[in-house]
Amino acid sequence: MSKICSVCGIDVDGKPRVKDSDGNYYCLPCEEAQKQLRQSAQSACPDCGRFFPSDKLESHGNQLVCPGCIRKRREKYQKTKSRMAAVGAADAKQRAKQIQIIGGAALVLLVMILVWMALR
Ligand SMILES: [Zn+2]
Ligand SMILES: [Zn+2]
Repeated sequence: MSKICSVCGIDVDGKPRVKDSDGNYYCLPCEEAQKQLRQSAQSACPDCGRFFPSDKLESHGNQLVCPGCIRKRREKYQKTKSRMAAVGAADAKQRAKQIQIIGGAALVLLVMILVWMALR
């Protein structure tokens, strides 16, 4: 496979080059230009309002959030999730208890009917 700079198209085989995570090659001047471009393409984090290079921001939902805020969001999400899980567990326990009571009552009724039929 030939190694060609994906920006300017020169053959970088045997020359200093950079390979990105997608497997694209860049010659050094283009890599430098790309870096500059990435740094200039800054976006503001919606949570803290600070500016970060776009490649430093992580997507959370449909927003780009800085690493610090994304951690906070995740912690908050985890807490909400565990609280909801706790509520769900309590609910399930309550429901199980109700089912037990109903089951017990039905059993008592059945025994009573059987006894009544036997005594008749
Ligand atoms: Zn190039
Ligand atoms: Zn932030």
